[in-house]
Amino acid sequence: MKEQNLTQQIIDYIQAGYTAFYLKTTELARADRLISEVANQLRFNVIEYNLAYGRVKFENKESIDDSLTSFEKIFNHLRHEDLENNLILIKDAKLGLENNPVALARLKYLLDTLNDYKGESAVILQSADVYLPNEIEPLVTLLELLLPDQNQIQAVLKQEKIANELTDRLTTTLSGLNELDIQQLLNLLKNKYGKLNAENEKAILAEIQQQKEQIIAKSGVLEMAKVNEEIEDIGGLEKLKAWLQDQSYIVKNLQAAKEFGVKAPKGTLIAGMPGCGKSLTAKAAAALFQQPLLRLDIGSLLGKYVGESETNMRKALAMAESISPCVLWVDELEKAFVGMTGNNASEVSSRLLGYFLTWLQEKSAPVFIIATANDITALPPELLRKGRFDEIFYVGFPTKKERKKIIEIHLAKAKQKASQFDLDELVAECRDYAGADIENAIFYAVKKAFIQQGKLTQELLLEAIRNTTPLRKTLKDKVGEYEKKFDELYLSPASENDDLSIPQMIKMAEDTNYLERLKVAKNEDVTEEILEKLAKDENLDVRKAVFSNPRCPAKLVNWKLQLDREDEEYDEEFEKILLSNPNISFELAMKKLCDNDDYFDLLSENISLKNNNFQNTLLDLDDEDFDILLAISPYVSENSQVRIYERNNRDVIKYLIENERLCESVQISIIQNSDYYDLISDMVDNVDLSEKAQNILVEETKLDDYEDIFNSIIENKKLYKSSATMIVSNPDILEYITFETIKLIASSEELIKENINLQLELINLDDIGLMQDLAENPNLCNESALMIVNKVKEQFEKGYDEDWDNVLVNLSNNTILVENNKSLQIEIVKFEESAAISQLIENIQLCKEAADIILNSPYDCDKEMLAEYIYDPQIQLRLSKLKNNKINRRLSENKNLHDSVIFQLLKTNDSEIIAKLKLNGNLSEKMKRKLVKC
Ligand code: ADP
Repeated sequence: MKEQNLTQQIIDYIQAGYTAFYLKTTELARADRLISEVANQLRFNVIEYNLAYGRVKFENKESIDDSLTSFEKIFNHLRHEDLENNLILIKDAKLGLENNPVALARLKYLLDTLNDYKGESAVILQSADVYLPNEIEPLVTLLELLLPDQNQIQAVLKQEKIANELTDRLTTTLSGLNELDIQQLLNLLKNKYGKLNAENEKAILAEIQQQKEQIIAKSGVLEMAKVNEEIEDIGGLEKLKAWLQDQSYIVKNLQAAKEFGVKAPKGTLIAGMPGCGKSLTAKAAAALFQQPLLRLDIGSLLGKYVGESETNMRKALAMAESISPCVLWVDELEKAFVGMTGNNASEVSSRLLGYFLTWLQEKSAPVFIIATANDITALPPELLRKGRFDEIFYVGFPTKKERKKIIEIHLAKAKQKASQFDLDELVAECRDYAGADIENAIFYAVKKAFIQQGKLTQELLLEAIRNTTPLRKTLKDKVGEYEKKFDELYLSPASENDDLSIPQMIKMAEDTNYLERLKVAKNEDVTEEILEKLAKDENLDVRKAVFSNPRCPAKLVNWKLQLDREDEEYDEEFEKILLSNPNISFELAMKKLCDNDDYFDLLSENISLKNNNFQNTLLDLDDEDFDILLAISPYVSENSQVRIYERNNRDVIKYLIENERLCESVQISIIQNSDYYDLISDMVDNVDLSEKAQNILVEETKLDDYEDIFNSIIENKKLYKSSATMIVSNPDILEYITFETIKLIASSEELIKENINLQLELINLDDIGLMQDLAENPNLCNESALMIVNKVKEQFEKGYDEDWDNVLVNLSNNTILVENNKSLQIEIVKFEESAAISQLIENIQLCKEAADIILNSPYDCDKEMLAEYIYDPQIQLRLSKLKNNKINRRLSENKNLHDSVIFQLLKTNDSEIIAKLKLNGNLSEKMKRKLVKC
C-alpha cells in the first residue's frame, strides 16, 4: 500500500467521525511526515507531547512546556479549545500508559470527550509496540506504517545521494526494511566504504544482505533462512519433487506463463510425520526457485493484545511481499490453531486464518508459500479444502526405496562410499525410521568410527541404527492418529506409491478378499499392530505370511513357538516358518528343537545370526548346542570361530571345519595342533585353505595322508602357486607324494601360468611323463620349452627313444607355444623327426629358417609335407625346382600356391599335377583361365 493511501485513509477515518488512532511504528520521521500531511489536508494544527520534553513544537521539536512529562499531567492539561481543528500527537504511548492507571483513566475520559468533536479533532497515540488495554481498545483504531515500496526506497537513495548505477540493485536488496533501517544502514556503509559505487558493489550488497537478515530477525515475525540444501538432497518424495520442478519452471518463466493463461502458483501445504523432510523440502525449493527463503514462525505472531496477532501477520506478509519474489515458509502452521489460551483464542485463530486465506487468495506479489504442518488434526478444515493451496501433500515415513536413497545421501554427506556397504541390510534395519532418524544414526556411526580411528563399517552402522530410538516409537500414539487422518483427507502422497502406505495397509487388512490381506501380511513395512491382528486371520496363508514376516513382533513369534504338540493351536508347519524369523527367541527354539537336525540347520541360517553382538551373546552362554549352531551357521564371524576353536571341544570343532567360511586363523590352528591332525583331510575336503594355511600344511610332512590331502586340494580346490612350487622343490616332500599328484601340477594351466620357477623345478625332475605334460601345457614359457628341447637332445644322444619323441610331438602340437617362437621351431625341426615335423607343419606356418632346414635335409617325406602347407613363395619355388614328382604333386594341392610356382608346375606336363591344380579352389582367375587351356 502506498503512503498516500494511508494518509487518505486517516483523513477518511477522521472525516467519518473516528477520533482516536494508535500508530505503531519506530519510524518517527516517516510518522511525522504522515501526520503533517494529514493535518495539512484537513487544515488542522498538530499539538505534540512526548515523555521526554513534555509539550513541544511539532515542526522543530522545541520545548514549549517541559513540566508535562507524564501522561496524567498531559491529559489533564488538554482544554476544550485544544480539541478544535487540532491533531493531538502523543508519542511514547506505551511507555506512558503502561502501569499508569491514572493516565489510562484520564485518556479514557479524553476519548469520551472527543465524541463531541467528531471530524474536528483526533488523538494519535504513537509507539513502537502496541499497548491497548481493554478499557480503550474499542475506541482506538490501530494504524500501521507499511514498509516502503520500491519508489519510496528510490527516493531515500536519491536523498542520500547514492550513485545512480547502484540504485536498481540496492532498491531490490533493501526492500523489506523500513525507512529508518535503510537510512541507518546506508550511513553505516558510507562510514565503512566512503563512497558507495559500482567498485565496491559486491561488498556492499553482501553487507546489506547480512544486516538485512539481522533486521528482519529483529522484527520478530520473519527470519531469512539459510539455504545449503538442494533438491538432490531429498531422498524419495518423488511426486513432491516433480511437482516443485514444474512450479519452478512456471516461476522462472512467470511472464510467459501468465501470457499463456497460467496463473502464478500460490504454494503448497506439506503435512506429515516429523523428521521426514518437510523443512528440508522448503529449503530445497527455495534453492530450486533461486529465491530467498523467509521463514515465518506462526507461534511468534501470536500477541497478547486484541489485533496484535493480525497486525503481526499483516506485517510479516507485507514484509514478504516487499522482498518478493521469494519463498515464504510458514513453519508449523498448526501452531496458529493449537496452544492458544484465553477466551478469545478461537476468535483470534479464525481471524488470523481469515486474514491469511484472503491474502493467499488475493496476493499479487510473487510469494510462493510452503506451509508445513506435523499435526494436521489441529488444522481447520477450510484450510485443507481444495483450491486454498495449489496442492496439499502428505509426507509419510520413507518407504524401502526411499530409505535406501536417504542412506546414500547421508553416507555421501559424511564422505563415505555407499557401494562399500550392504545397503539392503541397512534399509531393512531402519524400517519405520524417519529421514531424521537415519541421518542421526549415520552421523553417530561416522563419529564413532572417527573416534576409534578406524573405518566406518557395516557393523558400526547397524549398531548405530539399532541404538537409535525412532521418532515413530517416541510419538507412537500421535503417529497412529495422524496416519488415520491423512488417509481420511485423501491428501496427495509426496512419495511414489509403488509401496503401500500405512493407511492403505490398515484398510487392506480389513478387506474381505484374503489376497489383499495376504499382501499386507507379506509387506515388510507393515506395522506390528496390523500383524497382531492378522495373526488371528481365518486364512492359513495370511497367518503363515504373518509369522514369516521379519516385522512380526517377538512376543507373537515366541507365543506361537512355545505351543506344545498337545495344544489346540499347535501347528507343525509353522515351526519351520518361525525358525527363520529373526525375532525368535533362540533359547526357546533350542529347548524345543535340539533333537531335530533339519530344524537345527534351519535355525543356523536365521538372519539375526548375522549380528556379531548376538553371536557373542550366544557364545557367552557357553552351551555346546549354541556353539554348534554357530559353528554350522553361514553367518559365523571370524571372531566367533576363534572363540569356538579356543573352547577345544572336539565335537564342536568337527562341525566348524565343515563350514565353508572357516577363517584362515582357525585353519592354521588346526593344521598346527597335533590333536587335530586326523581332522585335516575332512577340513580340506570342505573348505578352501588360504595360501598361508597351505604353505604351512606343505611343511607339515609328518602327516600320514599327506598325499591324499594334496591330491584332494589339487583336484577339488584351489592350490596356490607358492604351495605348488614348495612341493616340487623340496625332495623331502616329494617322497610323500606320488608322481600322479605332481603330474596334476604339471598339467594345470593355472599353476604353470607365469610361474617359471615351478616350470624349471618340474623340468629338473627329469621325468619323461612330467616332460610330456609340460610340453602340452599352453602356459609353458619359451625358456622352459627350449630347456625341454635340450633335455630331449641329451636323451637322443644316448639313443633314440620313442617316449622322448612324444615330448617333441607334444611341443609341436602346442600351437600357442610354437606359433610365435622361431627358435623353438628351428630346434624341433633340427631333430629331423618326421612325427614332430609333420605336426609342426600342419599346425602353424613354419618360419622360413625352419623350412629351409627341411629343404636341405635328406628326407623327402618332410619336404612333401612342406610342399602342401608352406606359404612362403620362395620356399615353394625352391621345392618345385627340386623336380621331384611327389613333391610337385603335393605342391599342386597347396592352398596358397604362388603364380610363379604354378608356371613351374605346368612345365612338368604331368596330367596328375594338372588335374590336382584344377581341383585347387584357391587359384587366381588368371591361373584358372590358363589351366582351362591345358
Ligand atoms: P520435518 O520438517 O519433516 O520435521 P526435516 O526436514 O527437518 O523434518 O528433517 C530433518 C533432517 O532429517 C533433515 O535435515 C535431513 O537431514 C533428514 N531428512 C529427513 N527426511 C529426509 C529425506 N527424505 N531425505 C534426506 N534427508 C532427510
